Amino acid sequence: MVMAAKKGPGPGGGVGGGKAEAEAASEVWCRRVRELGGCSQAGNRHCFECAQRGVTYVDITVGSFVCTTCSGLLRGLNPPHRVKSISMTTFTEPEVVFLQSRGNEVCRKIWLGLFDARTSLVPDSRDPQKVKEFLQEKYEKKRWPDTFPWGLCQL
Ligand SMILES: [Zn+2]
Repeated sequence: MVMAAKKGPGPGGGVGGGKAEAEAASEVWCRRVRELGGCSQAGNRHCFECAQRGVTYVDITVGSFVCTTCSGLLRGLNPPHRVKSISMTTFTEPEVVFLQSRGNEVCRKIWLGLFDARTSLVPDSRDPQKVKEFLQEKYEKKRWPDTFPWGLCQL
């Protein structure tokens, strides 16, 4: 795992140096995203939508970390959210900066600021239909945001 692909520009420069640099940079951003979804922020270890442990996707639209099931549901919203696989996709710097500034803790304040667990129920993650309805309430009807609009990702 420590095999950092060091293919630095050789002596005398060469062709494609800039491209390699861009690829190396994008690799750095991908790693940053994986870190964000791992240990650096505890709130990102569980799916923002269903609280299931283990996140595999990011919701670029709002800047949250979600599980595979919920990523599919988010794609099906109207308008659809942009989701990206944490391990299979490359990320750009603005996307990573956006994710760093959001994350699940901040998203909770934004989208569930007025959410009251006493009157509304968080859906059971084993029931995709319920989760879907919950997401529609949350993002399509915008039922619980505290200080909307916080703005969506404009990338
Ligand atoms: Zn989920």
